[in-house]
Amino acid sequence: MLVYHLPGTLDTREAHLDLLWEAGATGLEERAGTIRAYFEIRADLPAEIADGEWRLEADQDWLAEFKANLKPVTAGRVTIVPPWLTGEVPTGQLPLIIEPGMAFGTGHHATTRMAVEALSAVPLDGHSVLDVGTGSGVLAIAAVLLGARTALGVDIDPQTIPIARENAQINGVPDGRAAFVEGTLGSDLPEHAAPDGVYDVLVANLYAELHDLLAGEYAAHIIPGGPLILTGILAGKLSMVQAALEREDFTDVTVRMDGEWALVTARAPQ
Ligand code: SAM
Repeated sequence: MLVYHLPGTLDTREAHLDLLWEAGATGLEERAGTIRAYFEIRADLPAEIADGEWRLEADQDWLAEFKANLKPVTAGRVTIVPPWLTGEVPTGQLPLIIEPGMAFGTGHHATTRMAVEALSAVPLDGHSVLDVGTGSGVLAIAAVLLGARTALGVDIDPQTIPIARENAQINGVPDGRAAFVEGTLGSDLPEHAAPDGVYDVLVANLYAELHDLLAGEYAAHIIPGGPLILTGILAGKLSMVQAALEREDFTDVTVRMDGEWALVTARAPQ
């Protein structure tokens, strides 16, 4: 197997990825700060991507290996599985099928798991849910499977929207119950439209600095006393989120930790 090792990540070398495809790469993968580009034959590469190194490696079907190592993830009343593991959902659990791919949210990250657990623990029947930073759509879809009347997933990354819609479809979520749009909350990000309205429940798996920035928007988009579920918060940044919620008059703040990650729940100001 011929692999071209290019220093950097899929983010930092985003502008160069097309050059790798154009040169004949059959697959790209990121591992520990290096992009691995798979080739069938050695190619002449343009100067922008000439800082890498060609290596001949033992053959391995990395996609098959990745798939073989995936396990179902149980979070509250939901078990998240890729499409080929639906048979492994324990009896009584709600299956949530997510095709592992480009969007964050397969259930294998502690933050996603804690957010689904938190959704399982709040009354959702007949409620509306706003999922900020929807990624694969996993939290919005979980909310509908758990009984929410509607869920709206928003994300600033346009690539996530068709993926989230497809995941909703795979899970048999009717069109009117889950919607996904490119967008966010907050006037500091004016290029993205803010979704209108007020929701019964708001969930957001982002990061602490963004929760701090958006705390006022969260308060404005949840019914008085409605639940707020926040994660994506590293332990060291937890106090920033707690201070933001206090500033915006949220009440009943609770914290759960899983390793270095925190999940915070609160109730919107009355
Ligand atoms: N909700 C999924 C989950 O829990 O697994 C995905 C969470 S992933 C950690 C964060 C997502 O938020 C990414 O898809 C990213 O594009 C999106 N995002 C980042 N900043 C955002 C913002 N300001 N507004 C909305 N979405 C944002």
